[in-house]
Amino acid sequence: MKRIALLGATGSIGRQAIEVIDAHPGLELVAATSGTTPIDGLAPLTQTGGDPTDLLERAAPDVVLNAVVGFAGLAPTMWALEHGVTLALANKESLVAAGDLALAAQRRGGGAIIPVDSEHSALFQCAQLGIPESIVLTASGGPFRGRTRVELADVTPEQALAHPTWSMGPKITIDSATLANKGLEIIEAHYLFDIPYPRIEVVIHPSSIMHGLVRFRDGSSIAHLGVPDMRVPISYALTYPDRSATSVPPLELRTMEFHEPDPETFRMLALAREAGVRGGSYPCVYNAANEVAVGAFLAGGIGFLDIATVVEDVLDKVEGAPASDLADLIAIDAHARELAAR
Ligand code: NAD
Ligand code: MG
Repeated sequence: MKRIALLGATGSIGRQAIEVIDAHPGLELVAATSGTTPIDGLAPLTQTGGDPTDLLERAAPDVVLNAVVGFAGLAPTMWALEHGVTLALANKESLVAAGDLALAAQRRGGGAIIPVDSEHSALFQCAQLGIPESIVLTASGGPFRGRTRVELADVTPEQALAHPTWSMGPKITIDSATLANKGLEIIEAHYLFDIPYPRIEVVIHPSSIMHGLVRFRDGSSIAHLGVPDMRVPISYALTYPDRSATSVPPLELRTMEFHEPDPETFRMLALAREAGVRGGSYPCVYNAANEVAVGAFLAGGIGFLDIATVVEDVLDKVEGAPASDLADLIAIDAHARELAAR
C-alpha cells in the first residue's frame, strides 16, 4: 500500500486524484487538505486552511501530492523535500518560486520529485531513455491562439476561462490564455531537469496530444503522446515506477500541427524566460505578480493585456537578489504582491 497525502483535494487536480486513488487498490488516501471547502471524512486526517505541516507529520505519507494552486503550496513542497518523501508535484508555482532553495532541500532530504504537470510528466518519462540535449514543451495556445494584441484588449474573464482542450481550475486556465502557464513551465523544467534555458523550446500544438519531446545527442528525439487527461500523469506520479492501468481511452492517431508561439502578443512567455535567465528571486517575483494580476483580471479590475504590464512593471522594480532562506523568500513574495497590487 502506498500512503498518499493530498493537498488541494477539492480542486480540479485534487478531485481527479481522488478518482485515481479510489480506482487503485494499492493507493490509500491517508490525509487531505482544502483551502476553504470543508472535507471532513474524506480521509482519516483532514484539514481546511492553515499550515498543513503538522497534518503531514502525523500522516507520515509515502507520497505527497501537492495540488494546491499558487505560492500557497510552498509549505507542503518544502516539507516533502526536507523529509525525503516523494513529491508528486502539480503545484508548479512552489518550485518556480523556491527554485534553488527547493533543490537544496531535495538534496538534504534525498527524495524524488515526480512531476504531475502533463508536459513535465512526459519529459520525465522521455528523459529515462538518455540525457536530454534539449527539450520541447508543447502548449495548446489557449483560447486566444492566433489573436492580435488589439483583439485581446477587451476580452472578458468568461472568454479567457473557455479553454479549448483542458478543463482546469480558474487560475491555471487564465495562465494558459496568457501563456504564463507555459512561462512557469519553462522555469519548472529548468529546475526539474537541470537544463539551461536556451535548450528549452516552446511550440504551439493546438490539439494537446504530444505533451513533450526530448532530443538526444545521437540525433534521435523521443516524444510522449496521449489524450489530454490529467488522470494519466496523476496515476503515473502516484504509482511510479509502476505504470498502472487507468480508465483513460487509448490515443487515436490524427494529424498533429505545430506553430511558433507569438511572444509579442503573449508577453508573459517572454517575461518568464527573462525572469528565469536572470535567476535569483526573479522567478518568485514573476509568479507573485502574476497571481495578483490574474486575481485582479478575474475580479474585473484590470484588462487581459494588463496582466503582462503589471508583471513586467513589478519585475522592473525589484532587485531580484536570491532568497537566503524560506523566510526571505516569503518576504520577497509578499513585497512583489504589494507592488503588483499597487
Ligand atoms: P483548483 O483551483 O481547481 O484547486 C486548487 C486547490 O487548492 C483547491 O483544493 C483549493 O481548496 C486549494 N487551495 C487554494 N488556496 C489554498 C490555500 N491558500 N491553502 C491551501 N489550499 C488552497 O486548481 P487546479 O487546477 O487543480 O490546479 C492545482 C495546481 O495544479 C496548480 O498549481 C496548477 O498550476 C497545477 N496544474 C493543474 C492542472 C489541471 O489540469 N487543473 C494541470 C497541470 C498543473
Ligand atoms: Mg502543463
